[in-house]
Amino acid sequence: MSSRRLVPHLAGLGTTIFAEMSALAVSTGAINLGQGFPDVDGPRSVADAARQAIRDGRGNQYPPGPGVPVLRQAIAAHQQSTYGIALDPDSEVLVTAGATEAIAAAMLAFVDEGDEVIALEPFYDSYRATITMARGRCVPVRLEPPAFRLDPGRLRDAVTDRTKVLLVNSPHNPTGAVLSEAELSLIAQVAIDHDLIVVTDEVYEHLAFDEPHIPIATLPGMAERTVTISSMGKTFSFTGWKVGWVSGPASLVDAVRTTKQYLTFVSAGPFQYAAAHALTTEMGWVEDLRQSMARRRDLLTDGLTSLGLDAHRPRGTYFVTTDVRPLGWDDALAFCRALPERAGVVAVPCSVFYESPGPGESALVRWTFSKQEHVLEDALSRLAAADLS
Ligand code: PMP
Ligand code: GLN
Repeated sequence: MSSRRLVPHLAGLGTTIFAEMSALAVSTGAINLGQGFPDVDGPRSVADAARQAIRDGRGNQYPPGPGVPVLRQAIAAHQQSTYGIALDPDSEVLVTAGATEAIAAAMLAFVDEGDEVIALEPFYDSYRATITMARGRCVPVRLEPPAFRLDPGRLRDAVTDRTKVLLVNSPHNPTGAVLSEAELSLIAQVAIDHDLIVVTDEVYEHLAFDEPHIPIATLPGMAERTVTISSMGKTFSFTGWKVGWVSGPASLVDAVRTTKQYLTFVSAGPFQYAAAHALTTEMGWVEDLRQSMARRRDLLTDGLTSLGLDAHRPRGTYFVTTDVRPLGWDDALAFCRALPERAGVVAVPCSVFYESPGPGESALVRWTFSKQEHVLEDALSRLAAADLS
């Protein structure tokens, strides 16, 4: 019944793969290497700051629409000290209900019916969904496995006179690729040449393992056309808190604020105070997380490779992708649906992150290493013991 009531332009988006696979992990008792979230919470002092804010009555009633001032100031200070980006916390920073709301609010703000949004494929599932909700058209530019590099010709060819937004994501989910300075410069040049808005999803900014993360807003000519999105979920291992933020020039941030206020009006108050505490006092913890996540990246990538899967070592994020054709599977979705029964492990098919996957893409599977080492080792032993063919 509900699907018959869904407006036609959203039909086909269905249940997110993350919900399906996490439910499968719960119902089968399998180890969940599907949906990306850590199995150890973030810093104790940050959890204490949230408790304290609730006890002190800070944020228990509607906080200001753009976010509590202390958090906006902390976000501006973080962008300044980490990347040298200067922001006015009052007009150039907006707090959202996670990066997810920021993405939706940005698409609803910038995309009109028929406008085209270029996104790097495979893409995070909310991109196509929210572009569709705005009645826009998602135009994929494919990053080719196994290295998932950006092809300059493909990017230039994707631009038309209907292109409005370039949606960037680095470090990139699901591939784990980190865009190089040359790739970012290419994107910047295309945006400038065609006067496009760039929306950049940088939620994994502190999970780049092999090179420093470069915000595209720092490239020449980009600050004035770029909306940068991040959140505390991945940086501080509190994915359930849903505190995200948008920063950029006042006119663009104001457009996102306009749509955000009719989505959630404001985001959870006490967690905003805790996020401000996290950004000002726990960046050392974040660096430790990055190093430990890099070790876990190696553990899972090496382990999957030794099982005969074609794994490409990711340079960032929580995720490694593998090609399951060496095991005799062409269809990653079928593989992932069978995996809990066969091996007691859950993974996510990358095929769902493509508009129309070719044979190589249809067999790509994403595994998260955002779990404790002993959990990853257990998952690898289960995979080694199972009949996966
Ligand atoms: N963008 C990407 C690329 C993600 O992987 C995620 C998942 N956390 C999000 C956005 C959503 O972030 P949040 O949980 O802050 O809404
Ligand atoms: N970002 C996480 C992932 O890609 C979680 C996504 C979600 O739960 N919507 O797995």
